[in-house]
Amino acid sequence: MAAISSAMAAGQNSDFLGLRLASTSSEARNANRRRLSLQIRASKSSPRLSGRPLRVAVIGGGPAGGAAAETLAKGGVETVLIERKLDNSKPCGGAIPLCMVGEFDLPLDIIDRKVTKMKMISPSNVSVDIGRTLKPHEYIGMVRREVLDAYLRERAAEAGATVVNGLFLKMDSPPAGSGERYKIYYNEYNSKKSATGEKKEMEVDAVVGADGANSRVAKEIGAGDYEYAIAFQERVKIPEAKMEYYKDRAEMYVGDDVSPDFYGWVFPKCDHVAVGTGTVTHKSDIKRFQAATRLRACDKIAGGKIIRVEAHPIPEHPRPRRVLDRVALVGDAAGYVTKCSGEGIYFAAKSGRMCAEAIVEGSAKGTRMIDEGDLRKYLEKFDKAYWPTYKVLDVLQKVFYRSNSAREAFVEMCADDYVQKMTFDSYLYKRVVPGNPLDDLKLAINTIGSLVRSSALRREMAKITA
Ligand SMILES: Cc1cc2nc3c(=O)[nH]c(=O)nc-3n(C[C@H](O)[C@H](O)[C@H](O)COP(=O)(O)OP(=O)(O)OC[C@H]3O[C@@H](n4cnc5c(N)ncnc54)[C@H](O)[C@@H]3O)c2cc1C
Repeated sequence: MAAISSAMAAGQNSDFLGLRLASTSSEARNANRRRLSLQIRASKSSPRLSGRPLRVAVIGGGPAGGAAAETLAKGGVETVLIERKLDNSKPCGGAIPLCMVGEFDLPLDIIDRKVTKMKMISPSNVSVDIGRTLKPHEYIGMVRREVLDAYLRERAAEAGATVVNGLFLKMDSPPAGSGERYKIYYNEYNSKKSATGEKKEMEVDAVVGADGANSRVAKEIGAGDYEYAIAFQERVKIPEAKMEYYKDRAEMYVGDDVSPDFYGWVFPKCDHVAVGTGTVTHKSDIKRFQAATRLRACDKIAGGKIIRVEAHPIPEHPRPRRVLDRVALVGDAAGYVTKCSGEGIYFAAKSGRMCAEAIVEGSAKGTRMIDEGDLRKYLEKFDKAYWPTYKVLDVLQKVFYRSNSAREAFVEMCADDYVQKMTFDSYLYKRVVPGNPLDDLKLAINTIGSLVRSSALRREMAKITA
């Protein structure tokens, strides 16, 4: 997919803010001003902390929070990770790119399935297997979130973070730039003492908001809202013989029936499949789209038993504000999910880690107070690394998810080996791969051909059904 617009995106590392709503441009201007003032400052001379390390609260223990807490603790920062539900099972397809396995050193036993065949299925049920160009060691990982998140939190604890089972409620912020501490309020759940939780307070030097799409930390700093999709998913336990088909295969269904602006999916897990869909534009029809997704896959999941039904918002773009003073948002709390693919796990973990690295560096391994400039370095690094990926997927969604004929063209294009290679390379390794100019030209011609053919087909179908 990314190949189509790779030429457009290659070399473009302009600010990620460009992707956002117009209302965010003032933050862009402020960021530029701050960047300049940082460059003018000769060297950082934030106060040295005497007799204690920097203390940071990470709110939320999903991939963003787990990754942030581990890096902070390893970097000499006193770290408290507050997660409201330690056995949380985040509603999620659980697809992760290969590079995440390596970059986060994930053990293979937490990966349920290695998908090497991704079946794209068009509105008229034409299907194309993507994956022919994969190398023997390449795959898309499928995880259950209850397993991945618990693993990352455990690693944070092993690195020295204190993991608290608690619900973050609110915080008192000190005057901006004062260097005084934040006071956070939370309910700590300790079943031995009280089933409803015990009210607690804690003073910290900085806060990392990793508390997902409905982030309370974001509200506390007036981060602003984002447009969101609603995603619905059913976990379906299917007979073992049927599971065989999905052992290394996932399916993506496109069409007005399954979603007007997204796709329906069947993703394999250890002993069941996750069947789901999402939409931004027609949220109240989500159950109808889910029924259509189930119907499209019915021959393959027949006899299955629904073992869990789940739904959750997916952010559509970054929030207008992601950093304020010594508070930073990461992962879904910040709004880092790609359009078109709806991918957010990797970006959550990466943003958590990048934010933590900026804190460790800015605080000289927990020995100095940090300031907003330190946190802004994380934003700059993240935006620079991923802006092209977000932009390309944004464009692709606009071009190929707008009508059934465009979706037919999209699936037809996916049969091309060059498209498959570029798509997988971009997804698995999280970079917008610069293409081969000759192949890009051929692809452009084929793309136009596919779009023209599918429009002609739609016109003929309209005549027949008129
Ligand atoms: C149905 C669906 C399918 C998806 N499929 C995929 C996919 O296949 N691949 C992919 O990459 N992405 C997928 N996504 C997106 C992905 O799930 C998110 O981008 C990712 O979970 C973001 O991670 P996070 O750590 O930022 O937030 P979350 O995973 O939402 O974690 C936030 C954590 O904070 C905790 N928390 C929240 N509020 C508080 C509070 N007040 N106090 C304490 N703790 C709190 C929560 O319990 C949770 O553990 C999907 C999303 C949905 C909804």
